[in-house]
Amino acid sequence: MNVLVIAPHPDDEALGCGGTVCKHSAGGDRVAAVFLTSGELGLKQLPRDRARQVRESEARTAARILGIERIEFLRLPDWQVGQHIKEGARLLRPILKRETPEVIYLPHPSDWHPDHQAAWLVLQAAWGRGTAPPPKALGYEVWTPLSAHDQVENITKTMPRKIRALRAHRSQLDEFDYERAVSIPSPFLEDGRILDSSRCDEGPMPHPRT
Ligand SMILES: [Zn+2]
Repeated sequence: MNVLVIAPHPDDEALGCGGTVCKHSAGGDRVAAVFLTSGELGLKQLPRDRARQVRESEARTAARILGIERIEFLRLPDWQVGQHIKEGARLLRPILKRETPEVIYLPHPSDWHPDHQAAWLVLQAAWGRGTAPPPKALGYEVWTPLSAHDQVENITKTMPRKIRALRAHRSQLDEFDYERAVSIPSPFLEDGRILDSSRCDEGPMPHPRT
């Protein structure tokens, strides 16, 4: 099966669905990832180009850990994906054609971050009409917990790799306590298991839910 992860910033892929991605890659699925922005504003002290380089390099390391075979950087401006939907769609379209994903993971549309919300609009615009068969789009949690889950993955076994992938985003470790973020009780623990949680939205086109 072909799987595509859409990450608005480097680290969303590991935080949001890293454990699930490991399960896919270990099971022989081809996983590709596309980063809408390179998260350059996460390193405000550096010039933009240098910040992009650092974060892209960290994303490459994290991708190797997670078993992601191919990654692409669309380099839309960080925090401004919503103002670049058409451009994002134009850049994403050939990737969708090439990867022919059956499953697409992206942040759920009720996440507070505007770039995470905009990811759905980019996918929707890129998908267009007449492309068949439609993939299944699954919204993963990053910053805002989901109020309901349609699909829950037990990632107990892949949690160590998820943590390693998070640590690969070294430039962000001072700012974010990733390990705490993914190990707090509810909603990541259920029946004592560590979970990636996703909301499933199936249909001919993914629609943002509010
Ligand atoms: Zn993000």
